[in-house]
Amino acid sequence: MLRSDEFYMHRAMDQAHLAFAAGEVPVGAVVVDAHGEVVGAGHNAPLASCDPSGHAEVRALREAGQRLGNYRLEGCTLFVTLEPCMMCAGTMVHARIARLVYGAAEPRTGMVESKANLLAQPWFNHQIEITGGVLAAPAKRLLKQFFAEKR
Ligand SMILES: [Zn+2]
Repeated sequence: MLRSDEFYMHRAMDQAHLAFAAGEVPVGAVVVDAHGEVVGAGHNAPLASCDPSGHAEVRALREAGQRLGNYRLEGCTLFVTLEPCMMCAGTMVHARIARLVYGAAEPRTGMVESKANLLAQPWFNHQIEITGGVLAAPAKRLLKQFFAEKR
């Protein structure tokens, strides 16, 4: 059963809290298939995994690909608590996801609305539907708390 955007964003927030607890920048993501089932989840973990590509989105998309046995995740929606960077936006295009839903805007590195809209380039033959600002306030609050504790 397909639930609301807020429902899935709460699942992504759960992932962000896992990142927070692990000392990683608290960003979380889930991938939901066309039937509304969560098929992938991931949190930010570049430090623990010694992996510059260890962003929440990439980890969730990898898990979904393994689970579905296909690197193309057609019909899937990616929910992420923070506006994606260029690497993650590019990975979404490779994955052919149908839709992106994100929480807080990322004014420094966001590549969907803040710095540019990479996904809206006319030379991409795959278009992704975008919804921003879902549960933006708690996502932002968690990031603020994380960086306040780091200082
Ligand atoms: Zn990223």
